[in-house]
Formats: sequence, structure tokens, C-alpha cells
Amino acid sequence: MTDFYAVIGNPIEHSKSPVIHHAFAQLTHQDIQYERVLAPLDAFNETVHDLISHGFKGANVTVPFKLEAFAIANRLTERAQDAGAVNTLIFDAEGIIGDNTDGVGLVRDITQNIGVAFAGKRVLLIGAGGASEGVLHPILAEHPALLIITNRTLDKALNMVKRVEARDEMLFVSINAYAFDDLHGQQFDIVINATSAGLTDSHLPLPTGIFAPNALAYDMMYGRITPFMAFALDHGATVFGGLGMLIEQAAEAFSLWRGVRPPTAPVIEMFKQQAKA
Ligand code: NDP
Repeated sequence: MTDFYAVIGNPIEHSKSPVIHHAFAQLTHQDIQYERVLAPLDAFNETVHDLISHGFKGANVTVPFKLEAFAIANRLTERAQDAGAVNTLIFDAEGIIGDNTDGVGLVRDITQNIGVAFAGKRVLLIGAGGASEGVLHPILAEHPALLIITNRTLDKALNMVKRVEARDEMLFVSINAYAFDDLHGQQFDIVINATSAGLTDSHLPLPTGIFAPNALAYDMMYGRITPFMAFALDHGATVFGGLGMLIEQAAEAFSLWRGVRPPTAPVIEMFKQQAKA
């Protein structure tokens, strides 16, 4: 029997999730259908309950509904609580479970696909929106030596640091929030752009010396060279976009729903070949 899943967002027409999940289903011989669902901006709750009443087993949630998904879930995983946002819903007999797979997706892409460890590294996380919140704890769990968060609106970065410091178990990592101007003279081994600045081709006011020798620059945006990626390339960093993160977060959701972990390498390769064509 076919099981049904969806990705809910607004807008949603450009989502690659159906292609990714159908590729996973084919690779793991799972009988699923995965649809794009456009939820009206004021009707996320109704949209989710409509899917449940039609027998859907789960859904991914994207912009702008990750906070509403957090609110609608009657059970939350620890990583969803850490992130304060939900990107994966599981529908079962007891209701709705909310999880967040973005962080594990980023960490898997960087550590396993790209082959760069966080342990002992100096990490700069740019941005303090939903994506940054989602990856913060999974990055800290990898034990970097230092984590600096910078954001155009500094207060949001400061609040993220305060929340981490309130949790004793995270204090082994040196963590701080800096304004862009205060990054002069600092060097990082891993620089992650978790802002949406690339969407508008906006440049980030980063000082030129921030990339340590052999640094990794990672932009969560995918599908094009952003100004951040161009800047990092000009300054000698190895540069990656967020396609691998997208596919890894989807793989984690697929595993939760189906109990089978799909291979991600062939799907990443498929998208790279399509981009070249
Ligand atoms: P949010 O809207 O929650 O946050 C946006 C962030 O970008 C804020 O920190 C904001 O700063 C900053 N920002 C926006 N424009 C600029 C600018 N011109 N200059 C400097 N900072 C700017 O978005 P999300 O956190 O949900 O998403 C961020 C990015 O991550 C998006 O591009 C999204 O596509 C991508 N993403 C990729 C995923 C993947 O799987 N690859 C998964 C999730 C997200 P301020 O606080 O000052 O407004």
C-alpha cells in the first residue's frame, strides 16, 4: 500500500523535496508518494489536519511555517526543542511528533560528505534566523574549539549565545556573538553562511582575513554562486553550497518515517549532473 507524505510551505513550487524523496524511495524500494502542498499563510494548522484526515503519514515543513509546526506538534524531539523550530512532522495514532533534521543534515554533509571535522576547529556561524538556530546545537555537539555567531541584528546572535550558556553541558565550547565589525583580526577554519543574503545577491560585510589556511566556506543556499561564496573563493577558501545539507536533512526525515536510511551520495550526484546539463 502506498503511504503519502508532503512538503508544506508558501511558496512551494520550487521545492526539490519531492524529487529527493522519490529518489530515496526508489533506492530503498519503498512505496511512497510525496507531494508539494501550498498552505495559505493563515491556514497552516488546517492544512496539516487536512493531510492527517486524508491518511498522510508525515510532512516536511519549510518557510515560513517552521515555528507554527513547532507549536502544532503535541510531542517534540530534543533536537526540535533545541532548535525551537520543526521541519519534520510524523503523524501517528497519538497525534503529531515534531522533529528538526536541518542540523544533523548540515553536520553530516560537512563531516561525512565533505570530510571536514568540527572537533577542535574555530567556527563562524553567520546569521541568527531559523536555519542558524537549527544547526547551533548539532554543531556544538561536534566539539569545535570556538563558535562565534555574527548577525546583522546583533541582539539575535547574543540571545542565541545566552541560551546556550544557560545550559551547563555546552560550556566546554568557547562561544560568543560578535558584530561584523568586530571580526577584524579573527580567523576561522569553518565559516557557515546561514543568512538569506544570497537570495537577494547581497554582500555580507566580512573582513578579508577571516579564512584560515585550508578553511571551509559553506553557504546553506544552493543552486547558485552567492556573493559570500564568490568572496570566499577569492580569499582561498574551499567552497560548498547547501545542496548536500538539503539532501541529508531529507534523508534523516525519510529514515524517521520509513525506518530505512537511504543512500545520499547517488542523489547528490544526480542533482550535480542536472545542474551541469
Ligand atoms: P530567516 O528569515 O529565519 O533568517 C534570515 C537570516 O539572514 C537572519 O539572520 C537575517 O539577519 C539574515 N539576513 C537576511 N538578509 C541579510 C542581508 N542582506 N545581510 C545580512 N544578513 C541578512 O531565514 P532562515 O534562517 O530560515 O534561512 C536562511 C537561509 O538558509 C536561506 O537562504 C535558506 O534557503 C537556507 N536554508 C537552507 C537549508 C538547506 O537544507 N540547505 C535548510 C534551511 C535553510 P537579521 O536577523 O538581521 O534579519
